[in-house]
Amino acid sequence: MSSANFCSACGKALPQEAQFCNQCGFAVAQLAHPPAPQKDKWYHHPVVGLFMLFVVLQVFGLPLVWKNPRFSRSTKIVLTVLTILETAVLTFLTFGAVKTIFDHMLSESSELKSLLAY
Ligand SMILES: [Zn+2]
Repeated sequence: MSSANFCSACGKALPQEAQFCNQCGFAVAQLAHPPAPQKDKWYHHPVVGLFMLFVVLQVFGLPLVWKNPRFSRSTKIVLTVLTILETAVLTFLTFGAVKTIFDHMLSESSELKSLLAY
C-alpha cells in the first residue's frame, strides 16, 4: 500500500488526489511531489551565449560569459579578448562613418556659401 494514501503527520487515510490532510491540514502534495531540480538556464547554452555576446550585447555580454558554467576559464579569456577587439573595431568604423558624413556636410555647406555669395 502506498504511503501517499496516508497523512504522514497524523496517519489518517486520504484520497489518492488529496493535497492536504482533511484531519490535520498537513500538505501531503508537497511531500509527494518534490520540486523538480532547476534546469540549465537557456542563456547558458553556448550558441545562445555567443550570439548574445557578439551580436546583441558585445562587451555588455561579458558578465553573462563569466557566469556561464559551461565555458572554461581559458574560453572565457579568449571570448573576452575577442569581444573587446570587436567593440574596438566597431567603434573605429562608427567614428569613420560619422567623420565621412561630417566632412560631406561641411563641403556641402561651403558649396552653399559659395552659391549664396554670387
Ligand atoms: Zn493528517
